[in-house]
Amino acid sequence: MRARGLISRRRFARQAACAAAFYPFPVRSHETLGGTAADGENGRPLQTEAVRKLASQISGQVITPGDSDYDAARAIFNRAFDRHPRVIVRCAGASDVARTLAFAQSNQLPLAVRAGGHSRLGFGMCDGGVVIDLSGYKRVDVDSGKRVARAQAGALVRDLDSATQRFGLATTSGGCQSVGIAGLTLGGGEGRLMDKYGLACDNLLSAQIVTVDGRKVEASPNANPDLFWAIRGGGGNFGVVTELEYRLHAVHQVLSGALTYPAGRLTELLQAFVRFLAGASDEMDAFAQLLPSPQGRRLKIDLCYCGEARIGNDLIRPLRALKPQDDTVKIMPYLEAQMAGGFLAAPVAHFQTNLFLTELTGASINALVAAANNAPSTCKVIIVPLRGAVSRVGVTDTAFALRQPGYEIDIAGVWNAPEEKTRVVQWVRATRDSLQPFAKGVYVNQLGDPSEQLVRWAYGPNYARLAEIKRKYDPNNVLRLNQNVKPDDARQVG
Ligand SMILES: Cc1cc2nc3c(=O)[nH]c(=O)nc-3n(C[C@H](O)[C@H](O)[C@H](O)COP(=O)(O)OP(=O)(O)OC[C@H]3O[C@@H](n4cnc5c(N)ncnc54)[C@H](O)[C@@H]3O)c2cc1C
Repeated sequence: MRARGLISRRRFARQAACAAAFYPFPVRSHETLGGTAADGENGRPLQTEAVRKLASQISGQVITPGDSDYDAARAIFNRAFDRHPRVIVRCAGASDVARTLAFAQSNQLPLAVRAGGHSRLGFGMCDGGVVIDLSGYKRVDVDSGKRVARAQAGALVRDLDSATQRFGLATTSGGCQSVGIAGLTLGGGEGRLMDKYGLACDNLLSAQIVTVDGRKVEASPNANPDLFWAIRGGGGNFGVVTELEYRLHAVHQVLSGALTYPAGRLTELLQAFVRFLAGASDEMDAFAQLLPSPQGRRLKIDLCYCGEARIGNDLIRPLRALKPQDDTVKIMPYLEAQMAGGFLAAPVAHFQTNLFLTELTGASINALVAAANNAPSTCKVIIVPLRGAVSRVGVTDTAFALRQPGYEIDIAGVWNAPEEKTRVVQWVRATRDSLQPFAKGVYVNQLGDPSEQLVRWAYGPNYARLAEIKRKYDPNNVLRLNQNVKPDDARQVG
């Protein structure tokens, strides 16, 4: 970090006013920063002076405990986590990120990076450390001629979708509107267009990154290609991404909606779902959910066909022949289809994890049905097929390694009162264990368990290369509050 020395109160106020003029977040004067912010990781006090200096150096906003917006700023989607950082820095760009990285390191504080705040494990917030909060840095620019979108890293799925849809364009983004595109893309990024156009990370053209030593670098096929390879699936391990550039596709009207079947017949319906996918073209995206109902578990299939509607309707005829109780499938703008989706509508305490299966056959379907029939009413299983363009990318072409056709099985439960938590967590774990014998991997972005073993499993043959790249860009593992690739592993497995 460039040492700037202490600034005068008047100069600080002038800088703050200047910053506030072009940045929407208010910049605080040091009087409002509170006293000693908190103690450092090694018992070292984190002085108000250090926080004041940071605030004077950045264009964004520094929030500390005691500030009126502290509780709102530390809230994340998964309410199972109630974390209290010492400093939240709402960064307004790459320079703010670089200064905050230096601040966290010089004060020996743990560091979290937050974009959309949807990490299943609450990685976007930390206890007793510093948060690089990109949530206010979210502009999306679209070059419709070149079919490229350039998004600041705090943009959400809804920001990207609505900006691109103004031009009849889209790229693969998440199925839930409030997910951050940065976390989504860095871990892979599954969404309704993936069968046709690949994952979000497959559509990434380049990214701007601040490395832990404060350098601003580009990652693309031509600039730092190792880094570009690693951030397409390897998560937030290698630097703080400030901008992402995506390839866009023409996407207008789609045939979308859901078929919901009466309770029961789960085995027959799942078999039909597997047969349906085997005959479906890449334009067809579908996922199935085993949902609770007063009559028992029932199957819901969400569909989105991004080709000619007549062909899509022909394709789903076998599913309609199985007599859904509710059929909402119709032609609609892609944006409407995106808005209708989402597994969880609002922030809630939850536990979700996943397994990747290459097949859904007799034994695994039986295990799924048994688990579903035994589930608490706030739990469900989601079956997300990975196929088409996703599985035409080579397993070592990007860090994301689930390139065989198969099914991501998401196992999820929510609780509204603490006493419900144990039962939910037990059911999710038991269901995962019952499916484990059939599993070939996991998806990092939907993992609810922090485990080195699971991270290695997620990356499979790519782990050793990821560890090498981690060692090059973050040798001290500053960015470790994530599905962590360990720099030391480069020596062990390399
Ligand atoms: C309701 C819900 C729906 C979901 N739907 C989907 C879906 O349809 N498809 C899918 O693939 N996944 C989905 N996910 C999982 C989602 O992709 C991951 O949780 C993802 O990490 C969320 O990103 P975020 O930016 O919102 O989260 P955050 O909590 O802000 O970030 C998560 C982690 O990503 C890393 N990170 C984020 N931003 C940056 C950055 N700028 N630079 C470096 N590292 C960064 C950090 O390690 C951070 O801790 C869903 C999750 C939820 C809760």
